[in-house]
Amino acid sequence: MPGEVLAGVDGRSNVVARLAGGGEPPLLLNAHLDVVPADAARWTHPPFAAVVADGAVWGRGAIDMKHMAAMSMVVLRLLASSGASLRRDVVFAGVADEEDGCAQGSAWLVAEHPDMVRAGYALGEVGGFPVYVAGRPVYPVQVAAKGVCRIRATATGPSGHGSMPRRDNAVVTLARFLARVGRTRLPLHRSPEVERFVAALAAALPQPARGVMPLLLHPRLSGPLLDTVVPAPTARMLDAILRNTATPTMLRAGSRINVIPGAAHAELDGRVAVGSSAAQLLAELQALAGRGVTLELVGDGRAPTAATPDTELFATVAAVVAEHHPGAVAVPSVIPGFTDAHYWSRLGATCYGFTPVRLPPDGPPFAELFHGDDERIPVDGFAAGLRMLADTVFRFCVAP
Ligand SMILES: [Zn+2]
Repeated sequence: MPGEVLAGVDGRSNVVARLAGGGEPPLLLNAHLDVVPADAARWTHPPFAAVVADGAVWGRGAIDMKHMAAMSMVVLRLLASSGASLRRDVVFAGVADEEDGCAQGSAWLVAEHPDMVRAGYALGEVGGFPVYVAGRPVYPVQVAAKGVCRIRATATGPSGHGSMPRRDNAVVTLARFLARVGRTRLPLHRSPEVERFVAALAAALPQPARGVMPLLLHPRLSGPLLDTVVPAPTARMLDAILRNTATPTMLRAGSRINVIPGAAHAELDGRVAVGSSAAQLLAELQALAGRGVTLELVGDGRAPTAATPDTELFATVAAVVAEHHPGAVAVPSVIPGFTDAHYWSRLGATCYGFTPVRLPPDGPPFAELFHGDDERIPVDGFAAGLRMLADTVFRFCVAP
């Protein structure tokens, strides 16, 4: 099978391989090959040695997301050696740079080599890891993701001597605005994708939680319920996908301790709800800014993405999940973060988050494995996931 290594800059290589098939829209299997750093002193086993111990493979990238690169390779080899005729091309894209914004990875491939990665469908991050809702395995499969924008807030005021305080000090004005941002929930944005996700989660829950869940979409009840009824990690995720958010992350003001500066700046990591826009987020923040603070969008933003789950591919994923994991259900989910899917979708792909691993109900919480110390993947869960991915790709791509 022909494969090609492509790079825009040294050290940021991408690999693309293709199994040719019939004329139906191609399926792209995607894994990012880069990882975040690891502090070896905090790990039980060396983070870059792939030690197998206690039923798991330990290492940075084990679940984020070298496992998908490995599974995709195996699935392509199985397809190639099966001799089956394919009704569509199956493409693998192993990409650089996802953890750092995708510029030399999927974004670069889409801009420079679109014909190599254009596909009708893509499977990649984030999804296919079961969470256990009241004991029932639920597999979130990402169909939609929030957008990203970067916001700069600037407060201005008269400069002066630090020995004589003044109320219109730009640093204080900016601090007041940031404090308001920190304690304010921006308005709720309902979208069909969020409504479907919440409804599907509700359906998996027993009463009374099943009845309470839809109230999370109520403009006034949503916040109080998230603060009191929903467990904290789930509440943070749901809170983020239900609205636009802006997280202050960078601050800059002044150059001398005894000089009141004429301006103070903050940068906010803005995330745009599915169905909303960066302009709308800016307007929502403007209402908190008051006099003396100006807001602007800086850099290239990325719009939210959403794909319909009403496809043969999603139906196949759902059937495979239900057959391979008794009692399990696949749920079309929305994520607060951002993945390579954004770029594949620019070329027309319907993208789903499905890199299945059968995590046990009593293992370490999945969220702690991503980017965490002691990142690892259970060997048997990986094998079960591989069977799920292979079954999905075979059903979707092999000609009857
Ligand atoms: Zn990742």
